[in-house]
Amino acid sequence: MNSSPTAPVANAALRALFNAQYQASRARIDVPLAMRRDRLLRMRALLVDGGDALAAAVQADFGVRSPQLTEIADLFVLRTMLHHTLKALPKWIKPVKVSTPIYLQPSSAYLQRQPLGVVGVVSPWNYPVQLALGPVITALAAGNRVMLKPSELTPRTSALMAELIEKAFAAEELCVVQGDGELAAEFSSLPFDHLFFTGSTAVGRIVAKAAAANLTPTTLELGGKSPCIIDASCDMESAAIKIAHGKLLNAGQTCIAPDYVLLPKGSEGAFGEAFAKATAQLFPTIEGNPDYAAIISPRHHDRLQALLAEVEGEGARLQRVGADTGPSAARQMVPVLVFGAKADSKLLTEEIFGPILPVLPYDSMDQAITHINARPRPLALYWFGTDTASRDKVLAQTVSGGVTVNDTLMHIAHENLPFGGIGESGWGSYHGEAGFLRLTQQKPVLVSSKWGRGDVFYPPYGKRFTQVMGLLKRWF
Ligand code: NAD
Repeated sequence: MNSSPTAPVANAALRALFNAQYQASRARIDVPLAMRRDRLLRMRALLVDGGDALAAAVQADFGVRSPQLTEIADLFVLRTMLHHTLKALPKWIKPVKVSTPIYLQPSSAYLQRQPLGVVGVVSPWNYPVQLALGPVITALAAGNRVMLKPSELTPRTSALMAELIEKAFAAEELCVVQGDGELAAEFSSLPFDHLFFTGSTAVGRIVAKAAAANLTPTTLELGGKSPCIIDASCDMESAAIKIAHGKLLNAGQTCIAPDYVLLPKGSEGAFGEAFAKATAQLFPTIEGNPDYAAIISPRHHDRLQALLAEVEGEGARLQRVGADTGPSAARQMVPVLVFGAKADSKLLTEEIFGPILPVLPYDSMDQAITHINARPRPLALYWFGTDTASRDKVLAQTVSGGVTVNDTLMHIAHENLPFGGIGESGWGSYHGEAGFLRLTQQKPVLVSSKWGRGDVFYPPYGKRFTQVMGLLKRWF
């Protein structure tokens, strides 16, 4: 086994780490509350002691990414998750009694909540601490052993997480392996008891196939195109600042960022003005502004520029928002609104994941709903307005991973709301008890009573059987 947390892990070392966790998980099935709490408290201490260094590492990996953003979107989210989990865990781990139907009485029944065993976690680069350690915390709370493969695009952050975790945890409790897509593919082919993947839909498909070969259940937290609907009843200015905040946080590199805006035809100009004003308020400058994140890599920057070039070439109108000082050495990309993009352009068919916001006018809300339902089910949906009948119609007639009404992103921060996607935006959810249960085996247990008369159903099927069945038929 490679002992350096910063060195890549070779295949044999990966297997050895998995085997150690697997053996440990089978040697100790029951993981009591005290042991789970101890692991979570060590994670909390790790975040307290290492929080500033982690924020600095994220900053260094991005080039520009404010430590305050990492504080709110990574560290605070994890601290609230830990707080909620530590408080609720004594209740969550208890067996849950269920009522027993009359034909099985006086037996009793309950659900015994047990760890699954070894959970693999693969995480992306955009919120590299939150999206790595959030699933880890969930898995530890559920009493599992965990192997984490963080993103290779944030190497400093991944190395620091590995170092901090190695100091605080035994490798058979929690360990980090580092490497690129090739290693990640090997990682995904390990026979985990559950594989928790956060990343793109394209890689999610590969991960699901690799896991299926082992019959390993997966949770897939993927991406997609999350619509943001502006209703005719909406106050444009207050909506614009919330949309600009949700879109431009981390420069649009957020899985649940609004991907495109649907608005009543004729209000494009008003939205363009309000969005520009809101952007200027949040980010008075773009280049050199420490609050405005850089695009993670030259490849992603080029991809975003190519999306713009394609639609501009096809006649779309681009509204660059904020002072455009030309190409940015720091890859701080000026936000762009796009009007009139073609329906089959990459901009309108692929996840954008950057500060470009296409604006699509609709004639009626029915048309907007049809647009959404003709596409893969989105990870998030946003609706802005005061007309509650219109809101309820949209909520009733669309299906998405989650919704925030009159704001963006915020449903992810609510620990009592499961977070996850549906269809191409993923499956399975976490946060709060939903996450705990996702990574827990709820084992059904029926305890038969010595007073039970199940023998009335045994052969040979005589008169008594017919009488009892006759009685039961009155109920069922
Ligand atoms: P990505 O899919 O390129 O990479 C994610 C992880 O998968 C990385 O750790 C990578 O090493 C690994 N990987 C690469 N090839 C693999 C393979 N063949 N087998 C297994 N793993 C492999 O995603 P990304 O670029 O890091 O992140 C951006 C994407 O993630 C966007 O699509 C975004 O919407 C999505 N995302 C989703 C959520 C969510 O909670 N739903 C959160 C953040 C990001």
